[in-house]
Amino acid sequence: MKSNSGIPLQYQMFMALVLGAVVGLLVNPGDISLEDTERELTFSIEKAPDGKRVTLIVKDPTGREDFRKSYASMSALTTHYPLLAPLSHTTQKQRSITQRVRITDRLVRIIEDVQEVSIQYSRKLDGRVVMTMHKAPTADGLAKEFPEWASFYREHGSGWKRRIAVIASFMGKTFLRLLNMVTIPLIVTSLVTGIAGLGKSSRLGAMFGKTLIYYVTTSLLAIITGILMVNVVRPGVGADLPGGGGVVSGPGEESIGGIFVELINKMVPTNPIQSLAGAEFLSIITFSILIGLFIIQTGGKSGETLRNLFQSGFDVMMRMTMFVIHLAPIGVFAFILFATATQGLSVFKTLAWYMLTVFLGLVVHATLTLPLILRLVAKRSQAMSPALMTAFSTASSNGTLPLTLNCVEQNAGVSNRVSSFVLPLGATVNMDGTALYEAVAVLFIAQATPGFAVGLQSQILVAITALLASVGAAGIPHAGLVMMAIVLNAVGLPLEAQGIIIAVDRVLDMCRTSVNVWSDSCGCAVLERLERGKD
Ligand code: ASP
Repeated sequence: MKSNSGIPLQYQMFMALVLGAVVGLLVNPGDISLEDTERELTFSIEKAPDGKRVTLIVKDPTGREDFRKSYASMSALTTHYPLLAPLSHTTQKQRSITQRVRITDRLVRIIEDVQEVSIQYSRKLDGRVVMTMHKAPTADGLAKEFPEWASFYREHGSGWKRRIAVIASFMGKTFLRLLNMVTIPLIVTSLVTGIAGLGKSSRLGAMFGKTLIYYVTTSLLAIITGILMVNVVRPGVGADLPGGGGVVSGPGEESIGGIFVELINKMVPTNPIQSLAGAEFLSIITFSILIGLFIIQTGGKSGETLRNLFQSGFDVMMRMTMFVIHLAPIGVFAFILFATATQGLSVFKTLAWYMLTVFLGLVVHATLTLPLILRLVAKRSQAMSPALMTAFSTASSNGTLPLTLNCVEQNAGVSNRVSSFVLPLGATVNMDGTALYEAVAVLFIAQATPGFAVGLQSQILVAITALLASVGAAGIPHAGLVMMAIVLNAVGLPLEAQGIIIAVDRVLDMCRTSVNVWSDSCGCAVLERLERGKD
């Protein structure tokens, strides 16, 4: 994608990243360490009704809540805090203990936003580091509610360096809002047009089923690979994401049956208009797919009119999305500036682990899983390098489509009958790389979010919604980033948490798009084999 200035977008984003990091480091006040204190704190443990999950609540001597975190089980909690072990034997629903503990506070950041002031610090409690945050609507409010932090705020919270960071944070958030703004209309129009465009044809009917099975299987395999990688590398553990923060309530642990019932309930809206207004993504996706299918069923003038209407809507939304994406360098500049201004260089370490996890997952999927399917089912190999290189440089499956078609037909000898069906549909629907990326990115954010328990339920929800997000993503650069709202929303994570990963999205987009195109072309070979002799 080229911009008006003639500099390709990926270079602009890279320049924005470097520039933002430099300015951010210049305005970074450095670490502010506080003196160790000894204080009396009350530790209470609350048991969830299911009898397993426990919540630790730490209060200071004035009774103010200092910290709260939930754990999967009592033993998980006591491994973290051995001092609470005696409490695990009492049978009451709530138990508490008051202890004098040594506390080391380290200021992480002071965030003075347009609407609130907050102080975030890491606190070492009984040898364990926890993240804590105090918020107030204004600086005066902070002084009243948290007097111990007020003088601190006065000393370090104002000044032009802080102002720059605040403005950057505001700019970054505005960019995110724009990105979120286009998501729903884009999903609706893209899904309806994609499905309605398939047309009614019995020839396609049978092939459609097999193609869909291939798409879903490979995308799920990719997601599983991604989830395994996140669990092994654990890139988000201990990472501090600017823009995220705050304790959120993730889904509790539930039975698998319960998860599916909940999922079905979320997928079938009682009132589609309400779902649209409430950004209930799963309901929106189901309803859009059904509209597409019934446009085909209805056919005739009505079907055609509606199809054209959605097509026009899609064209306009694509334009609008491109426009927003062209602003990405500003977003990247703002996010990275804010991140380095508040956290220094450690941001890059965090991002490096995250990128490595996505990258390793993509490599495993592209070089082990897909070739294995090719050997076992299609019994052949594919030569696709021109298409893959184009996918890598353009980060767009749609843009690469002509080359992908050419490669599978000319180099790999796939019939036009198969390729002209599998590839265009695959370019929007089958995105293994994007699915894997969604899963890794959201679990990374979840791991980095204080108080969010990444249990089985959240991982299953992430897997299913990542699949849907990849289906809903258009084959254009950064579409995966736009769709991530679906996955974040499903597991109850704040959308702002996306902030910092935007900075490195382009490189990952290039890699995941290559995998998307590679999977589409493998799909052609598989379908060619399954459809052989059926002409
Ligand atoms: N850029 C990707 C593609 O075109 C979609 C994404 O952003 O993941 O395939």
